[in-house]
Amino acid sequence: MIDSHTHTPTFWTQHFICEPFSGEPGENDVCFLGHHPWEFLDSVPPEGWLDNLRERLLKNPSAGVGEIGLDRLKQKSIPDAMQEAFEAQLSLASCLHRPVVLHGAKCWGRVVSTIKRVLDISALRSQSIPSFLFHGFSRSAGLIPEIVSLNGFISVSSAILNDHAINYRKMVSEIPLDILLVETDYTGEGDCASLEAMVLMLAKLRSLSATDLEHILDQNAHRFIVSLSL
Ligand SMILES: [Zn+2]
Repeated sequence: MIDSHTHTPTFWTQHFICEPFSGEPGENDVCFLGHHPWEFLDSVPPEGWLDNLRERLLKNPSAGVGEIGLDRLKQKSIPDAMQEAFEAQLSLASCLHRPVVLHGAKCWGRVVSTIKRVLDISALRSQSIPSFLFHGFSRSAGLIPEIVSLNGFISVSSAILNDHAINYRKMVSEIPLDILLVETDYTGEGDCASLEAMVLMLAKLRSLSATDLEHILDQNAHRFIVSLSL
């Protein structure tokens, strides 16, 4: 079973672990290197951060890029520096053909439109489009067809276990099975019990056995990172 988005790895499963890390990645974990949108709220990382990121990615051919994106959770408007940093990291991921973990709290539409605009330019250069993981995606079911067309995957969070999450569960049941993943980032990072409970809930929603669903989720996770030299 693969936990497709966490910052805190534990021993019991394989993780896609995104910077900033809290804890050491395990041997089988896949690391994602990048600058989170929250780093561009009030200040910016030290000069040369993009070159440093490029260097670290070149040294780590088995690393993806993430988590990167935009955010409207912490404040209403998106600072220019955040937008620019997202675009720069997207282009970098595209040039190096690395899978990308995306953050887009309360602004998924703008994340999608940014990807389309930036890839028009960078896809010409690199002739390749990376795969995307829309992590913590919610409230924007209308974007699902666009996410599919962008080679996107969607990871479901433990919010699905919440008794009141009727709309979220409805949205999740509209996600095509072949782009579905699960993650523990929302609550209880690295929590084995919540990942297992999520699989059971999803299996019920999709009328599948938990074993069959687990197999599908793992296959999807491997397809998401297929461009990495592992
Ligand atoms: Zn995260």
